[in-house]
Amino acid sequence: MEKKNRKIGIMGGTFDPIHIGHLILGEAAYEQFGLDEVWFLPAGNPPHKRNRAGRAKDAQRVEMVRRAIASNPHFVLCTKEMKDEGYTYSYRTLEAMRKEHPCTEFYFIIGADSLFYFDEWKNPERICAAAKILVATRDRAKEKELLACMERNAKKLHGTFLKLDTPNLDVSSHELREWIREGKSVKYYLPDSVISYIQEQKIYQD
Ligand code: ATP
Repeated sequence: MEKKNRKIGIMGGTFDPIHIGHLILGEAAYEQFGLDEVWFLPAGNPPHKRNRAGRAKDAQRVEMVRRAIASNPHFVLCTKEMKDEGYTYSYRTLEAMRKEHPCTEFYFIIGADSLFYFDEWKNPERICAAAKILVATRDRAKEKELLACMERNAKKLHGTFLKLDTPNLDVSSHELREWIREGKSVKYYLPDSVISYIQEQKIYQD
């Protein structure tokens, strides 16, 4: 039987590849909001990231996430979106989760860059109806802008936007893919188990 009133964080992302920024966000949410678990949800086929050239295959993104979270007992891999046909939308995934787990409270974890275009996502008000939104700074210089944007969205979308307290984590998958292609070291930006998988599978190398 599922525990009543569980609090679950949803850490969605393309994870191409998963990096310390994502992992620290998940852990900060777990700790600061007293979550029971954080589910890492690799995006299936998000409409805003369609260019697949030089990218990992879906199965490889999933395997990188599996390896990256393996040592953390409250992190869980959720492959729900990998099974969907066509484009995947967060509102649909979250609504399906609510249906499957009616006694669970969901917290959708995003970085500031995602918040800045949140109202352009498909049905953002339905995302807000299904989950509270936890937002992490991605660039401290934009902190004021971020707080204003959270307030605007809360009003407009009738949602709950809460600030996650995280250090400035100046790392992105985009930059890491470039470094790997250029043969630069990515040690400590990714778990060793993910780096060795990227090398074995020759991902991002051309
Ligand atoms: P890319 O560089 O390919 O756009 P990314 O590094 O932003 O990728 P995603 O998988 O798209 O990674 O990110 C998933 C979520 O994690 C998004 O909400 C994003 O804002 C957030 N995120 C990613 N990196 C960081 C970071 N360094 N600090 C805070 N949030 C982050």
